[in-house]
Amino acid sequence: MAFEGLAERLQGTIQKIKGKGKISEADVKEMMREVRYALLEADVNLKVVKEFVKNVSERAVGQEVMKSLTPGQQVIKIVKDELTQLMGGEQSQIAFSSRPPTVIMMVGLQGAGKTTTTGKLANVLRKKYNKKPLLIAADIYRPAAVKQLETIGKQLSLPVFQLGTDISPVEIVKKGLEHAKEEHYDVVIVDTAGRLHIDETLMQELKDIRALKEPDEVFLVVDAMTGQDAVNVANNFNESIGITGVVLTKLDGDTRGGAALSIRSITQKPIKFVGMGEKMDALEPFHPERMASRILGMGDMMSLIEKAQANVDEEKAKELEEKFRTQSFTFDDFLEQLSQVKQMGPLDEILKMLPGANKIKGLENAKVDEKQMDRVEAIIYSMTTQEKTNPEIINGPRKKRIAKGSGTTIQDINRLLKQFEDMKKMMKQMTNMQQKGKKKMKMP
Ligand code: GDP
Repeated sequence: MAFEGLAERLQGTIQKIKGKGKISEADVKEMMREVRYALLEADVNLKVVKEFVKNVSERAVGQEVMKSLTPGQQVIKIVKDELTQLMGGEQSQIAFSSRPPTVIMMVGLQGAGKTTTTGKLANVLRKKYNKKPLLIAADIYRPAAVKQLETIGKQLSLPVFQLGTDISPVEIVKKGLEHAKEEHYDVVIVDTAGRLHIDETLMQELKDIRALKEPDEVFLVVDAMTGQDAVNVANNFNESIGITGVVLTKLDGDTRGGAALSIRSITQKPIKFVGMGEKMDALEPFHPERMASRILGMGDMMSLIEKAQANVDEEKAKELEEKFRTQSFTFDDFLEQLSQVKQMGPLDEILKMLPGANKIKGLENAKVDEKQMDRVEAIIYSMTTQEKTNPEIINGPRKKRIAKGSGTTIQDINRLLKQFEDMKKMMKQMTNMQQKGKKKMKMP
């Protein structure tokens, strides 16, 4: 997981002062020494670390007294506030143009994930913002970049404008922008060429593309795994062509955190999105506060809730609620629920977002038994329609048949049947309570 070492160290430090009713200047000093070490170890820029430690120390020593918090808690709050500030404070939104098409230019070094992110971003814009995006393939140097973008476009059913690799990128973008206007696209995302290293020719080309039509956003895509190098790259790009935001990719890997914590402070440009995997839906808006909470082990409930909501279809949720209420919930509904949970992503990742989850011993290595989920699915698939709707008819011989069909044992079948009954009972109680309370609560 990203930030693992940093999170562990900071949480260890926090643990020491959490319950303290009185905190001396020496305590703060001692704590800040550890925090400083933790940040440096995570490859955070030295200047950023110094500034951070200074800010927290000043506030912690002369701390404003809040009745609801113990001094220990107040220091933790200060650390969290400052971490949030360090990463930009508020979530940074996309600047859409009032005169479409909005032009978003994607820049970055080769391998950072620019082409992949171009596709992911278009997907987000269409899904979340209801936009009609056009992708322009202007990376004519990296072998197969144009083809890659086309494949992504096909995969997502999104249009890609390309003119091969023999025409200059500036010309391609110019034609692409004309095309976007004619066809009334409201967002254009330009996948520009990357290089292995920053060089003058590249920067000049990007400046020329920029000069065609002032883009509304210039997103620099950087690889979070490269730590301080990512910060240097961001600085360089910002100084030569000017960027408006950063997309930090590969945050699903075990990056130490240096890039995420330093970029904003060094370049003054916000991190807008983070890449959380290779799949096309693995791009998330960057929330400084939530990230700070996660680093400090306070969990990330908001992201978890959003993840759940993104996978829930309102209509279906209502239908399900009705089924719970009338006790007509069947194994087919159960299967559907199971597949929705699976769509949320690997369960062990989801568990880690729960507050305090990092304190549960062994969870870091926990692999949620997804095989068990597969077994449950296999059992349900082996049932007849009648059995799925009326599980009470599943007697001895039926159990035997289902076990054989699904490659499981009778005990597995019994366990599932019991779970199913318990769940139905619980849901009934919940819906009853909810009706009594006359509160409209959405079923997750
Ligand atoms: P480009 O040269 O900058 O256009 O890079 P690509 O878009 O081709 O990406 C380089 C590699 O990084 C590809 O294998 C991508 O699948 C992978 N990649 C991109 N973003 C992410 C991410 O957020 N997480 C992970 N794990 N891999 C990513």
